[in-house]
Amino acid sequence: MRLVTYSERGRTSVGVLEDGWILDIPQAYTELLRQQGVADAAGRALAECPPDMVLLLARDGLGRAREAVAFAREALARDREGALQRGLAVAADAPGVRLRAPLQRPGKIICLGLNYADHARETNSPIPQYPELFNKFANALIGPGEPIVLPRVSQQVDYEAELAVVIGKPGRYIDEQRALEHVAGYTVLNDVSMRDFQFRGRQWMQGKTFDRSTPLGPWIVTAEEIPDPQTLDISCEVSGEVLQRSNTREMIFSVAAVVAYISQIMTLEPGDLIATGTPAGVGFAREPKRLLQPGDVVRVTIERIGTLENPVVAEE
Ligand code: MN
Repeated sequence: MRLVTYSERGRTSVGVLEDGWILDIPQAYTELLRQQGVADAAGRALAECPPDMVLLLARDGLGRAREAVAFAREALARDREGALQRGLAVAADAPGVRLRAPLQRPGKIICLGLNYADHARETNSPIPQYPELFNKFANALIGPGEPIVLPRVSQQVDYEAELAVVIGKPGRYIDEQRALEHVAGYTVLNDVSMRDFQFRGRQWMQGKTFDRSTPLGPWIVTAEEIPDPQTLDISCEVSGEVLQRSNTREMIFSVAAVVAYISQIMTLEPGDLIATGTPAGVGFAREPKRLLQPGDVVRVTIERIGTLENPVVAEE
């Protein structure tokens, strides 16, 4: 399933994207309950399938979402106009419909640095012995198509293609062998970095969490469609030029190892987001440097997930 967060005329909800339609999960679940004769179907749907991805994952709503989506799919096939009128589905390309960052306010955004050996080498950094961790906050997230804003205080804004992991099941001291059972799905993240700020001190955070700087999306592909996350081609293209090209098998610490490691430190919760690091080819390590400019378009593509595309604009 491709899970999306979308908005339509000011209303934000969650759905599943298939065949050009967004099937609305809360609305479909409401009708499904109503059909089963459940009293207060809308209220129960709001509690069990809320229109927010983090909450939906936290309420363990993916199983219910699958049921609801099957119901909506059938309703759409049987009576398209009726299903559209009842809000069970919208056309993904309808005017006023927009995909948003699939997670709006994840409880944690944990990022890995230097998790590909070739990237560690290009930045003259030693191969890390333990995962190199830093964090972002939800203020940084933007969705597919939204502009990456070049802050007026930074002169060195860079791209980083990354596989992002969405946690589905809580856990502490997770065993590496069972770590992927805690993953709800995968998405694409562009870890846009203000290099001048990143390297002002020993902690990278200040270069990593500028407002509206981190594209996420365009959707979450659920984990059953990606049984092995260490086999995926990953690339980044800036204004038509491919600048990063690798495969997730080149990661130093695998997704499973990273989930297990982080869970030694903190309880991982549904909706938590882990960015797994970027391969070689980032702009500041190139000769000559290739930093982002107003008018650029950045496209990050990961096999079996999709392409996350964002224009780059100067701050007003
Ligand atoms: Mn990164």
